[in-house]
Parts: sequence; structure tokens; C-alpha cells
Amino acid sequence: MKYSEIFYTLQGEGKLIGIPSVFFRTSYCNLRCGWCDTPYTSWNPENKQISVAEALKQITQFKSKYVVITGGEPFLQKDELTELCQQLATNGHHITIETNATIFAPVAANLISMSPKLSNSIPIDKQWQKIHEAGRIKLEVMSSFLKQYDCQVKFVINSERDIEEVQDLVNSLSIPTESVVLMPQGINSDEIKQRQHWLAEVCKKMKYRYSPRLHLSIWGDKRGT
Ligand code: SF4
Repeated sequence: MKYSEIFYTLQGEGKLIGIPSVFFRTSYCNLRCGWCDTPYTSWNPENKQISVAEALKQITQFKSKYVVITGGEPFLQKDELTELCQQLATNGHHITIETNATIFAPVAANLISMSPKLSNSIPIDKQWQKIHEAGRIKLEVMSSFLKQYDCQVKFVINSERDIEEVQDLVNSLSIPTESVVLMPQGINSDEIKQRQHWLAEVCKKMKYRYSPRLHLSIWGDKRGT
């Protein structure tokens, strides 16, 4: 598999926030968000390879029940992802897959953590703008995940305009409000603080879940956390 890193930390976002978990970060993404916080998996992907067996061995060494497969976009490597998840499930792990929700495959997972990208993610790069814009929202993919898995749907929020986009998606897919998670956009604590009070009030009003970005407030914008 193309991968970027394997590390043990606390889940920093969403409804399992704070749970010690092993993260397996795949490499490569089909989108190019302007504010991507893991450019080493998207804009400038590293060319590291690992077999499913070796990934399983390295994940298992941390003796953590909770495993988070993230990216990049993990579903780009459907076959290997399916095999890895099957083996993790057989070993009794709780599996979360973090995805941009543009590609579906029926893998073994306990939680699908979708993060559909709003228009605030469109990059400046002209070449990628069209590809990103055409690919960032796939309603049929989101619908398949929602029907078949326990899901949370996380949105990175920059400004008030984003809330209308969230509401349109929530309405068109009938997403339960308790499954919607709003997070302030920012790659460090200061940027997040600028938006957190306003966003907390939005969540109270709309009955959405607010998620801080725990790893950023504890460790800052550091890899492997
Ligand atoms: S979908 Fe995720 S990994 Fe891909 S470019 Fe956007 S933020 Fe980066």
C-alpha cells in the first residue's frame, strides 16, 4: 500500500475524541484542498510502500483496540484497504475509516467518518481547481455509507457561508443532526480560537456536534500526533 505514517495518539476529532488510537495514514488523494493539513499525502505525496501484512504487524504492536485509517484518501486503494480491514476486524479491533466520501467500497468498519469538502476547500492552483470542484461532493457515495454504516459527517467550517452548504447536504441526504460534526478551520490553535465561539453558537442553534481539534491544541501542527 502507499502510505505515509503509522503512529499512536489520541483521536483528536469527532465523536470518539480523546480515545487512544493507532493511526494508519495512507498516501495519495483524489482531491486537492487549498488548506489541506496533510499536504505530504496530497500535494506532495511521499512514495512509501508497505504490504498489508507489514501494516498489520506495525499497527498491532501498539496493542490498541482502536484503529483509525486515514489519509490522503484510503478508499483509493480499495483492494488493500478491504484486506487490511478484514484482518483488523478478525483480530477484534474497532476500525474507524476517515474519508473524503468520494469513493465507496464495502469494507469492514465500525465507524465511517466522512469529511465532505465544502467550497471553502477549492485550491488556488488552476489545474486542480476543476478536478477538485468536479469531484469533491459525491451524493451517491455518501448515501451508500449512510445506509450501510454507523457514520459521522465532519465539516471544516471557515465562515457563515459554509453553514448553508452544510444544511443543503444535510437536507438532501437526511443526515441525522447528531451525526453532523462541525470543526473550525485552522492549522494551529490561534486560527481555531478565532472561529470557535461563533461556531459553538451555530452548533447550539442547529443541534450539530461541535468538535475541537484536540491534537492541535495539545501538540500543535506536528506530524505523528
Ligand atoms: S481530502 Fe483530505 S487529504 Fe485530500 S486534499 Fe483534502 S484535506 Fe487533503
